Amino acid sequence: MKPSESTDPAPHEPNRVCDVVVVGGGPIGIETAIEMRRNGIDALVFEAGPLGHTISWWAPQTRWFSSNDRISIAGVPLNTIDQAKASREEYLNYLRSVVDQFDVPVETFSKVDKIEARPDDPRRWQVQVRSKWIEASAVVLAIGGTDHPNRLNVPGEDLPHVDGYLREAHHYHGRRVLIVGGRNSAVEAAIRLHRVGAKVTLSYHREELPEASIKYWLRPEIDGLIRSKAIEALFESRVTAITPERVDLDQTLPDGRHHTLHMHFDDVLTLIGYEQDKTLFKQLGIRMEDPGGKPIYNDETMETELPGIYVAGTAVGGTQSSKYQVFLENCHVHAAKITKHLLEYGIGSRNTDAKRQAKPSATPELNRQIEMNPES
Ligand SMILES: Cc1cc2nc3c(=O)[nH]c(=O)nc-3n(C[C@H](O)[C@H](O)[C@H](O)COP(=O)(O)OP(=O)(O)OC[C@H]3O[C@@H](n4cnc5c(N)ncnc54)[C@H](O)[C@@H]3O)c2cc1C
Repeated sequence: MKPSESTDPAPHEPNRVCDVVVVGGGPIGIETAIEMRRNGIDALVFEAGPLGHTISWWAPQTRWFSSNDRISIAGVPLNTIDQAKASREEYLNYLRSVVDQFDVPVETFSKVDKIEARPDDPRRWQVQVRSKWIEASAVVLAIGGTDHPNRLNVPGEDLPHVDGYLREAHHYHGRRVLIVGGRNSAVEAAIRLHRVGAKVTLSYHREELPEASIKYWLRPEIDGLIRSKAIEALFESRVTAITPERVDLDQTLPDGRHHTLHMHFDDVLTLIGYEQDKTLFKQLGIRMEDPGGKPIYNDETMETELPGIYVAGTAVGGTQSSKYQVFLENCHVHAAKITKHLLEYGIGSRNTDAKRQAKPSATPELNRQIEMNPES
């Protein structure tokens, strides 16, 4: 074949060119973009939903577990009027202010559908957002790890009265609600719905609520409500089917025998954790490791095995199904690590191309486990 007859597809005509595309407008995507822009790197953020999408779908007035100094970003203090841990609303307000203060270019409701290397230059990346193509020297995947609620995988799960999210608590006044789960989200929902006048039943598959994984201030309250039977707890039970009229549960009795319960509920909330959307990792061919399909990256630089593709924020933890170890509070360092690495190779400076050419490929070292250090 003559050189001119290459079968490589033509590169997409870019609608925009920048140094770095940051995928995800959560706290770490924003913090990373600010750090880069402070260092002269032209970073654009694309966010699939509204700014801070993950936090925006928490139930109204949910409070952070972490204290304010640990979830503040870019050196901007996060103060609440009563010095309490920030609520969802206070944090979203804060995030908007930080974006405005630093004039961070964020395109909301702009999902990144595809990322591919430029066919004629594998050191440049093309990012597709709807019908637009953006070309960049590097891409940061700050996509979080809680994209979809985990599923029970039982018949009837998609019925309209079944939901994987707690929404406005007020809706549940006077209703019979089954909450499936036994960690933070489920316990917090059980207490809140009980307080708004719902009749709450909690179904959990273990014989008692877990010691860890529940906000320390909720624990005495849920224990008291269960003891007093204000909330009905069905331990060692599993939902097996849901219909509009009833929910079937299989429960293990203290003597080891099983029995089936048929109960009626107006609403069923399945609050059993969240799953990461791995579409972009798979599409790029980023290797992942168990548990949870954590992307493999270099811990010094946050670069994956694909030169120019980085991961940041809770995205590095994959799907964190049981004990969460990667939190916002232990991810702030990612912004500086990535920025330093980009600067070393001249991204953002005039010399970008020459320096990147000399760049060694990423070290495929296994991810070091990030120690959980929540403040109690
Ligand atoms: C109820 C609840 C309470 C929590 N409490 C705490 C706490 O107290 N402390 C703590 O540290 N953490 C807590 N977390 C976890 C918390 O959500 C994260 O710490 C924080 O949001 C992580 O920030 P991030 O920027 O890494 O990811 P996220 O905030 O999840 O941001 C990722 C963003 O990427 C976007 N995105 C994903 N794919 C694409 C795509 N293809 N194109 C464009 N955009 C995309 C998403 O829409 C999302 O906005 C809690 C989570 C939940 C659900």
